[in-house]
Amino acid sequence: MKIERMLERLCAVGAPSGFERPAVLAAKDMLEPLVDEVWIDRLGSLVGVRRCGKPGAKKLLLDAHLDEVGLTVTGIKNGFLHFQSIGVDARMLPDREVMVLADPPMLGVVACLPPHVLSMEDREKAPKTEELLIDVGLSQEEAERQVPLGTPVVYKANFLRLGKRQLCSKAMDDRACFVSLLRAAELLSGKELDMDLYIMGSTREETGGMGAKVVTQALAPDFCVAVDVTHGRTPDSSKDEAFVLGGGPAVGIGPNMTRWMVRRMLDTAAAEEIAVQKEIMERSSGTNGWGMQICNEGVATAVLSIPLKYMHTPVETLNKNDIESTARLLAAFAAGLREEDAQ
Ligand SMILES: [Zn+2]
Repeated sequence: MKIERMLERLCAVGAPSGFERPAVLAAKDMLEPLVDEVWIDRLGSLVGVRRCGKPGAKKLLLDAHLDEVGLTVTGIKNGFLHFQSIGVDARMLPDREVMVLADPPMLGVVACLPPHVLSMEDREKAPKTEELLIDVGLSQEEAERQVPLGTPVVYKANFLRLGKRQLCSKAMDDRACFVSLLRAAELLSGKELDMDLYIMGSTREETGGMGAKVVTQALAPDFCVAVDVTHGRTPDSSKDEAFVLGGGPAVGIGPNMTRWMVRRMLDTAAAEEIAVQKEIMERSSGTNGWGMQICNEGVATAVLSIPLKYMHTPVETLNKNDIESTARLLAAFAAGLREEDAQ
């Protein structure tokens, strides 16, 4: 499996929360050869299943979300676009290149005043989203005709290789994790499983995790693993809250995770000699795992996170070895899971 090529293809798609269809269709092409059946549910989430053939088989559901952060056009002023943000911090925006997902899509840049005309005081201030505008090079009439209010906007696609191992792009959160699910399915191909394996590319995570909740409610799995990103370590980050790139996935520990699932994940990693990190999450994990855990009568839940620098920016950066080690851990965990583990 060409991990880098798949990731580049997925990250290139503009698909913020609520507008995931293009990412879901690209992901569907990649998932189809690895499972028995694939479908898209009413909220647009992608689900694939690999059946073990046993009647009444238990179910393991692996999740990664396919939506990305973005902006929504809320008004037009002299041809410039006002917007609100979904997961994007206004500090990140001035002078950014963006893709306005109108029909047809168009490039834009976030307008900013040159330093020459700013007072010293204004130079120190972080901008507010309401004050920012996207310049698409159109007149008021053209913009009104071509950019309906509510049009979504994403960071312009990019894909960079930093050094030998690091990859940098928009939408790595969480499409890198979806690629780790694909890779896990590939590692499991030809191996017998004791249960049905479901793989989900969920929608609307950045707006509250509705996509994953609906699929989990409908499938009623016995076990689930939410795979998402966590903060990667940089010289200026806190050691307690950031994880080493290349150090393997972070295994979440806390009330959002089922204790025996966490233990099994750590034991599996040790047995397979896969490096992992421990992430203490004393409240919500901030992932789809939070909502999935409480579907139906409750689901045995684990959360794995790939360390990623610069979350929710167009330069989200991770170590590609962590995608592979996350996939290996998921595959070994799934292979070791037994029907009797369902309680
Ligand atoms: Zn995420």
